[in-house]
Amino acid sequence: MATLTRRHAILAATATLFARPVFAQAPAAPTGPFTLPPLPYAPEANEPHIDAQTMTIHHDRHHAAYVGNLNGLVKDHSQVAAMKLSDILAKINEMPEAVRTGIRNNAGGHANHTMFWQVMGGKGGAPSGAVADAITRDLGGFDKLKADFNRAGLTQFGSGWAFVTVDKAGKLAILNRPNQDTPLMAGERVLFGNDVWEHAYYLKYQNRRADYLAAWWNVVNWDEITKRYAAAMAGTLDI
Ligand code: MN
Repeated sequence: MATLTRRHAILAATATLFARPVFAQAPAAPTGPFTLPPLPYAPEANEPHIDAQTMTIHHDRHHAAYVGNLNGLVKDHSQVAAMKLSDILAKINEMPEAVRTGIRNNAGGHANHTMFWQVMGGKGGAPSGAVADAITRDLGGFDKLKADFNRAGLTQFGSGWAFVTVDKAGKLAILNRPNQDTPLMAGERVLFGNDVWEHAYYLKYQNRRADYLAAWWNVVNWDEITKRYAAAMAGTLDI
């Protein structure tokens, strides 16, 4: 009953949101409102595990395309264009039907890659502190996390992602999602994730996704993940 009531309230709020006339709002510029964040390190920072050419194409073309597509999709939907990316994803099922699938794919792609660049560029190794404690408590330790996470990535048929999610109590979970879906669409928060689309590894690893998944741990940035974990517990982790 509580769920039905809440759903009714959400639907009512959504109806109000999209019933509002859109007069007096300038059309969104084709280059905005969403922007491609720069890679936080040089493209070769993840060599030899992830090659510079893959990083450049992945960021400058694939991620850029998601951002460009998203801007195009919201161009005639100014109320969506004014929303935060994380709010769009949390309300993905309330997006205007004509652009909902496109927004799902491209807002998801924008969020997933924004997170992805942040959690790479490191030296791998093992986590420490609160993150290590949570991994031991919730995921059976670092070795088991790597095995289970790699299995989640390997068994994601076709394109998609493996994620570790974190709730506000700091509890971790491993899951995978197809395409550019993200746990943010289910109101969850992503501690980190790995892209298992072929464009993430094909130049260097071809069809050997398992080798890519194993090598990826060498570039994980545990300092950044530790900051994301603290932000999740503070309720400030956004993307
Ligand atoms: Mn990708």
